[in-house]
Amino acid sequence: MRKPRIVVLGAGYGGLMTVTRLQKEMGTDAAEIILVNKNDYHYETTWLHEASAGTLHHDRVRYSINDVINRSKVNFLQATVEDIKIEEKKVITDQGELEFDYLVIALGAEAETFGIQGLKEYAFMISNVNSARQIREHIEYQFATYKTEDEKNDERLTIIVGGAGFTGIEFLGELGNRIPELCKEYDVDPKKVRIVCVEAAPMILPGFDPELVKYARAKLEKKGVEFSIGTPLKEATENSVLIAKGEDEVEEIKAGTVVWAAGVRGNPLIEKAGIENMRARVKINKDLRAPGHDNIFVIGDCSLMINEEINRPYPPTAQISMQQGEVCARNIASLVKGSEHLEEFTPDIKGTVCSLGEDDAIGVVYGKKLTGTKASFMKKVIDNRALYMVGGPSLVFKKGKFKFF
Ligand code: FAD
Ligand code: NAD
Repeated sequence: MRKPRIVVLGAGYGGLMTVTRLQKEMGTDAAEIILVNKNDYHYETTWLHEASAGTLHHDRVRYSINDVINRSKVNFLQATVEDIKIEEKKVITDQGELEFDYLVIALGAEAETFGIQGLKEYAFMISNVNSARQIREHIEYQFATYKTEDEKNDERLTIIVGGAGFTGIEFLGELGNRIPELCKEYDVDPKKVRIVCVEAAPMILPGFDPELVKYARAKLEKKGVEFSIGTPLKEATENSVLIAKGEDEVEEIKAGTVVWAAGVRGNPLIEKAGIENMRARVKINKDLRAPGHDNIFVIGDCSLMINEEINRPYPPTAQISMQQGEVCARNIASLVKGSEHLEEFTPDIKGTVCSLGEDDAIGVVYGKKLTGTKASFMKKVIDNRALYMVGGPSLVFKKGKFKFF
């Protein structure tokens, strides 16, 4: 009899957790496991703001998928998924077609542009290793070019960050550390550089603890960040952004770099596949399956779960994606064994820590508020834990963060 085939799409937090747990749970005879990913490496999406600012080299944020999978149990296919044919139980990739018995969709998120004009053409997004490398290089190019121009264009040195959610704030924290280095390297007067964060809501980090938000804002302002709050970005052009100020007023800010970090949506392949979705995220059942599809699991940023305590979706996070990966693996193992008794998933939120650069952060961990070096220490512990969960101590030694103070 043919072994059931499990196909896992995406080697991010959710996909890799699923596969590394499946390879522990199941013997080689039980099922064929195929992991499909665009690149032959996994990247720590949660560290991309560092690679984008240039405070951490992009090779530090990625590692080879072959280093963490057991190749006697898992076949890795480096391919880009192009379509998912639900009814035909088939995945179409640029390397050919793959049939599946069980499918795990863990293809992550895309930046949400809300249809705002000019963003796709002119703004950078912190999405993956390629885009992070491009942002770092672009900012550096602006500094280098500035010095070659006889007629100085100071606006070249303005960086706009759209969105003061966690991604925007973490990126600003890194910029705060990186810009003084760039000024030194390119002999640029720091007073010429502007970093402006544009946020639509009336506060930065909307919904987070107000005392910690106040701390973060003060620390970032000290690093030279200007905040334009309650001013939604309306349009991006080749060399500026337009922001709404009040009902009728629109202000144009000229800038050499625009980075859009104002939220995410799921992977567009979800929409293409015709699975019922909200902004490319599937409102999954408690057992992590897509409603009406007993052999399809959707996890990570492609999934949507409601926090019943507040009747709002859980935010898409690595923390939840990894926890889902563990349960997803156990549920698939149960189905393969012929059991219909699946585990229900409930996120276990241990806290949230937002970095403000190499040595500073804010956070709430197990209900306790943290700031400064304590919070920054905790952030690195969390980063190292994610490595440990997937690749054990050897991955932590290879890729971990050990500069604690
Ligand atoms: P991902 O980890 O993004 O992985 C998706 C994978 O799918 C990638 O390997 C990608 O290459 C692959 N893929 C995509 N499309 C295709 C395709 N067509 N074909 C083949 N492969 C494909 N969350 C936290 O909990 N804590 C944090 O501190 C935190 N910090 C963050 C910092 C930043 C800068 C950002 C951007 C996000 C942060 N998040 C954080 C959110 C977190 O990174 C995401 O929630 C998490 O990465 C989602 O995991 P995932 O497995 O769904 O997708
Ligand atoms: P987000 O949704 O958390 O924040 C987006 C921000 O952009 C909001 O403050 C929103 O008001 C603002 N915004 C929306 N439209 C705008 C406009 N037109 N003009 C200006 N501002 C606008 O999204 P994110 O920061 O991209 O984070 C994505 C996910 O990743 C979230 O779930 C987040 O929790 C998670 N994340 C977590 C961490 C962490 O835990 N340290 C770090 C980064 C990201």
